[in-house]
Amino acid sequence: MRIGAIEAGGTKIVCGLGNEQGIIEDRVSFPTEQPEKTLPQIIAYFQDKHVEAIGIGSFGPINIDPSSPEYGHVTTTPKPGWTNYPFLAKMKEAFDIPFGWDTDVNAAALGEATWGAAQGLDSCVYYTIGTGVGVGVYAEGKLVHGLVHPEGGHILTRRHPDDTYEGFCPYHGDCLEGIAAGPAIERRWKVKGSELPPDHPAWAMEAFYIGQAVAGTILLLSPKRVILGGGVMHQLQLFPLVRAEVQRNLNGYVRAEAVLAEIDTYIVPPGLGDNAGLAGSLALGLNALRARV
Ligand code: ADP
Ligand code: ZN
Repeated sequence: MRIGAIEAGGTKIVCGLGNEQGIIEDRVSFPTEQPEKTLPQIIAYFQDKHVEAIGIGSFGPINIDPSSPEYGHVTTTPKPGWTNYPFLAKMKEAFDIPFGWDTDVNAAALGEATWGAAQGLDSCVYYTIGTGVGVGVYAEGKLVHGLVHPEGGHILTRRHPDDTYEGFCPYHGDCLEGIAAGPAIERRWKVKGSELPPDHPAWAMEAFYIGQAVAGTILLLSPKRVILGGGVMHQLQLFPLVRAEVQRNLNGYVRAEAVLAEIDTYIVPPGLGDNAGLAGSLALGLNALRARV
């Protein structure tokens, strides 16, 4: 069985091939430019690959409501050319096969539940902390869609008392994304996050924000695992800091061993590593093939 996967990010698009075991057999990547340039590149890649289905995990916001005329569109993104772009329809014009379609972070959550750090569990939450912050939600064996789709990157957190940075979110200023995504770290400390030493105070401040968000997520959704991915989480010293912040925020209230005693295996990096997004899209494609949509 050969399934196609598209991890469509705001900066780059990764296309790949894989099988029902989640093994990625091939991949290519190109920058996300205007759709008139990028779509033909995607279509050309899959043209001779004989895939049975394709899964697309896309940057957003996107329309994932099958009953909407705008189903399959990238919606209100400021990215040039992509506002209200019918991404899914353009792909379906080119290939008459089943397509899976969801947010990049929902795809990653599904990938982790299928083959990664939440394998065998019927719920997990996946955070990406990178250029932006996104949250994918898998609950009771299904990806959560709801009104639009979860937008947990834009929740509000309490400010750190020593933080004077105003935040960069164009909508909310100092929402979680505005204050904790990679660009916030760079603008606050005037140096790229990847160049800050592991013992720099930036990381305690970063964990202060992520820890609040994760504690809120645990209270709201009670996920059986929390997976933290994205470029910023390559700073592995963040994991113990975030776990401690989560425990400090919850303060013993959530009486689950996972939170109280086994938090090292509860809040974890992606089991699929940097493949989480592409493997997640593969899982979307596989589900679409099984459901024939
Ligand atoms: P994207 O979110 O665009 O898909 P990434 O998840 O790689 O891509 O996130 C990119 C962001 O993460 C940038 O803001 C970058 O500065 C930051 N970043 C990438 N690698 C690291 C690292 N090792 N340490 C800290 N920050 C990083
Ligand atoms: Zn915001």
